[in-house]
Amino acid sequence: MLRRLMLLTLASFIFIEWGPLSWEREKFGIAAGDPFVKEIVLTFDDGPRETGMQEILAVLDSYDVKATFFVVGKFADRFSNVTLMLKNSGQELANHTFTHPRLYEDYTEHIMLQIKRCDDVLEGLGIRRTRFLRPPGGHFNMKIFNAMRRMNSKLGLWSLNTADYTGRPAFEIENIVLWGARPGTIILMHTGMSETVKALPKIIEGMKKRGYEFVRLEDLWNGGRT
Ligand SMILES: [Zn+2]
Repeated sequence: MLRRLMLLTLASFIFIEWGPLSWEREKFGIAAGDPFVKEIVLTFDDGPRETGMQEILAVLDSYDVKATFFVVGKFADRFSNVTLMLKNSGQELANHTFTHPRLYEDYTEHIMLQIKRCDDVLEGLGIRRTRFLRPPGGHFNMKIFNAMRRMNSKLGLWSLNTADYTGRPAFEIENIVLWGARPGTIILMHTGMSETVKALPKIIEGMKKRGYEFVRLEDLWNGGRT
């Protein structure tokens, strides 16, 4: 009886933990990686910007860390030199729409256009089409899913929000990550935040000391660095 119960528990654990989750991942996207692999992702939203990007890139490069930048298409176009700098440093560029609208209020066709125009800018700069879309604010609904399905995009969400956009000091951002990150955590940060740049070295050093590796979202999706 006990053995049968244990087997049943094990089977339901495997089904709940792996079955629907992997099915949902293929269908919808990703909000965290493998909870048993010490890989984490730094994601930076809302760039590129004219200033502040070089500082982020200098820190990442000095530690040989690759991250994922969810770019706004019109900024990627306007500051194309910065976009290319990111690409040349091996950073991943992913889709954060063309103008950063409230996507959930839009029509499916307009949502598709927002995705496509951002992709077009990146492709025009020789950057491979990303599979990931992060809707502004992380809000999504069925219209967004429908548009994504037709554009063959997947959601790229996060599991740890540093809320650096609130203007909180660097030590708070550091603590949120150092206390909150687990294997597979996807961390939300923003470009153009000086406190975020200040927090980065301690975050990277602290997590590396604990045996974590920083990977891009695409690497996490593929189950390891590519
Ligand atoms: Zn945003």
